[in-house]
Amino acid sequence: MIPDSASYRLANARVHRSLTPGLAAIFDTDGFALVDIAVADGKISSIAAHGKSNAGAEAIDVGGRIVLPCFVDCHTHIDKGHIWPRKPNPDGTFMGALNATGADRAARWSAQDVARRMDFSLRSAYAHGTRAVRTHLDSVAPQEEISWPVFEAMRETWRGRIDLQAACLIGIEGVRDRKWFEKLAKRVAAAKGVLGVVTYMVPDLEELIDKVFAEAIKHGLDLDFHADETDDVAAISLKKIAEASLWNGFEGNILVGHCCSLARQPDLDVLDTLDKVAKAGLAVVSLPMCNLYLQDRRNNATTPRWRGVTLLHEMKARGIKVAVASDNTRDPFYAYGDLDMLEVYRMATRILHFDHPVGDWPKAVAAAPAEVMRLDGAGTLAAGGSADFIVFKGRSWTELLSRPESDRIVVRAGRAIERQLPDYAELDELMVG
Ligand SMILES: [Zn+2]
Repeated sequence: MIPDSASYRLANARVHRSLTPGLAAIFDTDGFALVDIAVADGKISSIAAHGKSNAGAEAIDVGGRIVLPCFVDCHTHIDKGHIWPRKPNPDGTFMGALNATGADRAARWSAQDVARRMDFSLRSAYAHGTRAVRTHLDSVAPQEEISWPVFEAMRETWRGRIDLQAACLIGIEGVRDRKWFEKLAKRVAAAKGVLGVVTYMVPDLEELIDKVFAEAIKHGLDLDFHADETDDVAAISLKKIAEASLWNGFEGNILVGHCCSLARQPDLDVLDTLDKVAKAGLAVVSLPMCNLYLQDRRNNATTPRWRGVTLLHEMKARGIKVAVASDNTRDPFYAYGDLDMLEVYRMATRILHFDHPVGDWPKAVAAAPAEVMRLDGAGTLAAGGSADFIVFKGRSWTELLSRPESDRIVVRAGRAIERQLPDYAELDELMVG
């Protein structure tokens, strides 16, 4: 359908208001408009209301199919991905995941093992239409010395196809070893990475968070936290992070993932936290599939009664930047997944009610995470921007979100890519023993 030529025009394409900033067109109640998209030399040269442009280039009528910008996945763990066959979660709980992953990491995560699984994940993400990925990297010693060089090499290999970013991942208690943490922050800075920790309600939490901010300020790093991934109402580290950001006068970007416990807390506490989060300019990413899998799992005799996700509607209403992302794929934290951001958006629509109205929720898988990741212009369709977009079969939200859209067309720099998903059998030799 997409011509293999330098310039052409996609006529009768359906684009969404939230992802086409400044576009003058008539949008329907679902936020869609029919447009003609002109592509030249890998870039979008113009977007105009359907039938209004007379550009001479070859025109292809896409029949009102939805065209979205390529996705941005701002929270993944591609260093853990696909270990499930050799290290499943024994009971589906968070502790089961933590212990199983720790044992697998210590025993099996050589540079070659990490690199091959990372590459597999990136090939999947690319085929599904993702153009940028942030991964966390387990950085508990000695893994940081193995995984960071692998990430740096992988970022080079994938440059031009996927913008790859990494954040270090350690439990907040690891910050107590000041010397080692300072060394880690330096390593992260050398790799132009992002400083990240998992916060727990330890007695010295405030002091440790302060140390994290101090190192980020020293090296000019952005921050990325895993916070409150629990149903425990006493888990309030999101608030502690917002407070620390305010009193440190932090000017970098801060992304906080999960924040599950917030949905279980009394309204007054929630309002206080959200005020601080908004004031501090924090962005929040919810991981709906992983949260649904791990949260509210008590034992196999009970039915989960809580969806596990955080309060994205209330956050967005206050101007807090919100995103959804993949999180784990086929590892003890989540048994499924393939870094398909359309699946994430479909699941988020159902779990988090991204509908009635859809409003600007599509930004949560594109423009919003792109801003958090400082990817200028990514996650939008605009004249002058790169021609990176996905042509779906669906012509409405109900058509788009009812099928897997396995036959979507992914266009990068104006050309349709080969959408070959890697074969699971490729990883078989890493799974034995
Ligand atoms: Zn995570």
